[in-house]
Amino acid sequence: PLIAPKADGSLDLDAALATFGHESFRPGQREAVETLLSANSLLLVAPTGGGKSLTYQLPAILLPGTTLVISPLIALMHDQVQSLHRCGIPATFLASTLDGDELRSRMRGMGQGAYKLVYVAPERLTFGGFRGLLQRMRIPLVAIDEAHCISEWGHDFRPEYMQIGEFLGAQLRHAPDTRVLACTATATPVVRDEIMAKLALGPKTKQIVRGFARPNLRLSAAEAGGTRDRQRRVDAMLSQALGAPTKRPEPDGGSAILYCPTRKLTEQEAERLSEAGWACAAYHAGLSPEQRRTVLRAFSTGALQVVAATNAFGMGIDRGDVRAVVHWGPPGSIEAYYQEVGRAGRDGEPAWGLMLHSGQDLPLRRRLLELDIDGRQPDPQVVEHKWSMFLELIRWAEGGSCRHDAILRYFGDEDELLQGCGHCDVCESLAEGGGESEFDEDETTLIIRKALSGVARIHRRYGLSAAVNLVAGVDDPRLQRSGLDKVKTFGVLAEHDARWLKKVLQRCVAAGWVEYTPGDRPVVLLSDNGKAVMHAKQPARIVLPSTELKEKRSRS
Ligand code: ADP
Ligand code: ZN
Repeated sequence: PLIAPKADGSLDLDAALATFGHESFRPGQREAVETLLSANSLLLVAPTGGGKSLTYQLPAILLPGTTLVISPLIALMHDQVQSLHRCGIPATFLASTLDGDELRSRMRGMGQGAYKLVYVAPERLTFGGFRGLLQRMRIPLVAIDEAHCISEWGHDFRPEYMQIGEFLGAQLRHAPDTRVLACTATATPVVRDEIMAKLALGPKTKQIVRGFARPNLRLSAAEAGGTRDRQRRVDAMLSQALGAPTKRPEPDGGSAILYCPTRKLTEQEAERLSEAGWACAAYHAGLSPEQRRTVLRAFSTGALQVVAATNAFGMGIDRGDVRAVVHWGPPGSIEAYYQEVGRAGRDGEPAWGLMLHSGQDLPLRRRLLELDIDGRQPDPQVVEHKWSMFLELIRWAEGGSCRHDAILRYFGDEDELLQGCGHCDVCESLAEGGGESEFDEDETTLIIRKALSGVARIHRRYGLSAAVNLVAGVDDPRLQRSGLDKVKTFGVLAEHDARWLKKVLQRCVAAGWVEYTPGDRPVVLLSDNGKAVMHAKQPARIVLPSTELKEKRSRS
């Protein structure tokens, strides 16, 4: 190893950290390294820039032998190897872009144990000669970067990643104490399970999810009408975040991004906002590379204050002072939304995120998903998966619990929950005593407790619809079969519409009080928090959905 063990034989994590020039661990880093070292395997989920690389680089210089890092991007490998060299750590990468002599010389070095880290692309694992070389080496740790690329459900599936499972199996048969670390920034629970299965990481493998909290973001979602209504809301948000429009923005005046669903809309909105006095431009993949570079540069240098863009605008944004990200319509998933809105407030100062949506988004998205790609119909299973990801986002938008916590719960980042961030639209309306809701606090609490008692009755037997039918007092053969139509809870909320009760229970899911067991036929149960709310040990901090009556009234 590059760093000798301490006198008592334990590994010197602090000395290793100093090698990288860092003064202290970031939250979670030490825990991740220690878990990996003691448990031999770990799935680490943290956002981009969160410092995941250190979790394998640090053990690599503490352990004897050469750590193998599997990574999909040659450009990234190159950068990482360079920064390791700057810290005095011997490392290299193998890529098809290198000429034969260089490759052979690096592989010879590997055989002689000259490197502490070697980065490779997954396809190299299929080369017989390379596999033979690995067999002769001492490999204490295999790290898989961007592990979500192994998931066919994920947004970035790479067939080459399928090889990794077979390779790990062979490596572990050959050297059973090889440690395995899988890293990713974007895995939702479904994708995480798939990573675990495909990498053959046992059920004992720990998962650490952290770093997703962005407490300085003030998130909100609002149902919006047509173009006029959306423009009005965009304008209101821009002036709230940036003040009055100006063609000559101050260097520290902040900036904003307006994400639009179509190229045409980015151009229309950029024109409208420019006419309204903003230093604004459009950005989308239909512009020439030169035009795109110009817009990005003008945004970076502060000459542009607002960019109306499609989701092509993302890479290379290096402004920390984005004060607002507005979505004209919902993107495809919570992950996509959070990545886009996450470009706001990188400097840690307060920043706003507003997502507009409407009932029309659903049929629109559905049609988009079913569209032929290159004249071929998309795989129905993939369509359904993407559709359910989209519905999660819509449920989040409609959901009546803290925006911030609902997102962390979605990612499974439980340690960072705030139990109410205090400044999202839901938290604010709760602080005002329910705000827009037609139910006061006591009514809300009573309805929620009754609804949760229905779930407690269903406990692990059936899904959400059975719980809805139970509290609504609706005939349901499942309830009759199990005698649940005779219990006191049957019909406790019969005065309410069953469709409305379904929305109420969906909000209880979003609030983390009701959970589903995984599997083909999901069944519901109460979480510990749900039990506490049902027993009135915890308040029901939630905004109930509006009833149809109210919706009709407000529309007329
Ligand atoms: P990720 O792989 O999670 O996207 P990286 O590992 O590339 O993130 O780290 C992002 C940046 O944070 C890098 O520049 C890295 O040097 C820096 N970094 C990581 N850990 C620390 C630390 N403990 N102290 C200071 N900087 C750190
Ligand atoms: Zn909140």
